[in-house]
Amino acid sequence: MEGIAIIGLVVVVIALVVFVALLMTRIKSLLEVEKDYALMTKNYATVTILQEIMVILGNKIPATKKLERINDILIDRFDIAYSTIVEANEDGNIMKASNVPSDLQEMVINLDQDKIFFDSMKQNVPKYITAIKTLEYPSADIRDVRSVLMFPLYREDEYRGFWLLEDIKGNAFDNVAKVQLSIIKDNITLVIQNNDYAVTLENKTTELEVANKKLEEMANRDGLTGAFNKEFMHRKLNDVFNGSRRQNSIAIMDIDYFKNYNDKNGHMEGDNLLKMLSQLITDSLREEDMLFRFGGEEFVILFPGTDKQNAFMVSQRIRQKVADFVFPFEEKQPNGNLTISVGVAAAPDDANEKQRLLEIADERLYKAKNNGRNQVIGE
Ligand code: GH3
Ligand code: MG
Ligand code: MG
Repeated sequence: MEGIAIIGLVVVVIALVVFVALLMTRIKSLLEVEKDYALMTKNYATVTILQEIMVILGNKIPATKKLERINDILIDRFDIAYSTIVEANEDGNIMKASNVPSDLQEMVINLDQDKIFFDSMKQNVPKYITAIKTLEYPSADIRDVRSVLMFPLYREDEYRGFWLLEDIKGNAFDNVAKVQLSIIKDNITLVIQNNDYAVTLENKTTELEVANKKLEEMANRDGLTGAFNKEFMHRKLNDVFNGSRRQNSIAIMDIDYFKNYNDKNGHMEGDNLLKMLSQLITDSLREEDMLFRFGGEEFVILFPGTDKQNAFMVSQRIRQKVADFVFPFEEKQPNGNLTISVGVAAAPDDANEKQRLLEIADERLYKAKNNGRNQVIGE
């Protein structure tokens, strides 16, 4: 009887032990699920934040704006007290985004130079500090900072700045948070990197545009004098005269006794004179007027939006300037002076059509030559 009771007791005890063991396992697995669930939730949050960051990355807004928006999301979703993104370049550190009050930002902007962080930043490893000493970190008192996590931002092998996270809780960043933040850090680096590419691309595009403009300009210019060439003149005059209702004028000018100049001084000196003359005339013109080398020693000036009276006046002024200017060897010219003769024609007074206007101006130039040279004829 007693034996049965003992056996019964043993059975009950064993059953109890088994039950407790089973219960413990169940509780443990329940706790683990709970832990997994917490981790999953956190991971899901990271994915959501990453998605938001991706959207910002794709936006067509300046890099600084992107970083500001990303920073705002991080502060909000991660429940971090302070987040600061600083970009370092050759000229020093630049604050890109921060929710540290602006009068206290001075303390954080060059924090990567501080001895607590310097080596980590240099070696491209994050620096985590949890028990902050006020002496080492002045913000600890002023802003009540207890945990600090600083990520270096690298572009390939180049240090490009840092991301500083500060919290008022001690031990604010557990291992999971650190991994999550590290993933987000890569995306911050991406913004900076993309911006670098965008800036490089923009610079290259500008360079190319400048080079193209120069090439285009060169194609329109005469190689010797720098004045616009004859082909460009025809295109320009077509544009201006065919269809325009404004008053437009032209002048044709020709050097007096240039054959003599060449004969006495040589062709090279003749070329040099053409260059000097072209420069002198260009300097006398308004921005909108254009000088073309029409032929060997003949030039055409286009005066857009100018009536004959004014075109005549400017032509006179140029003629006078040439006459007054002392060119090399001009004393060997027939009248001891290097001069030009000019014929002026205007639309709509004289004609409307480009070719006709050129003919009329040329006739007047011929008249000026016959009248004794060094003069302007407009009628
Ligand atoms: P006019 O007062 O009647 O214009 O006399 P001119 O001697 O200037 O006229 P002409 O047409 O007889 O001679 C023009 C000269 O211009 C002939 C040529 O040697 C010279 N010439 C034309 N093109 C060039 C050039 O590109 N370089 C040089 N050095 N001379 C040129
Ligand atoms: Mg001539
Ligand atoms: Mg001549």
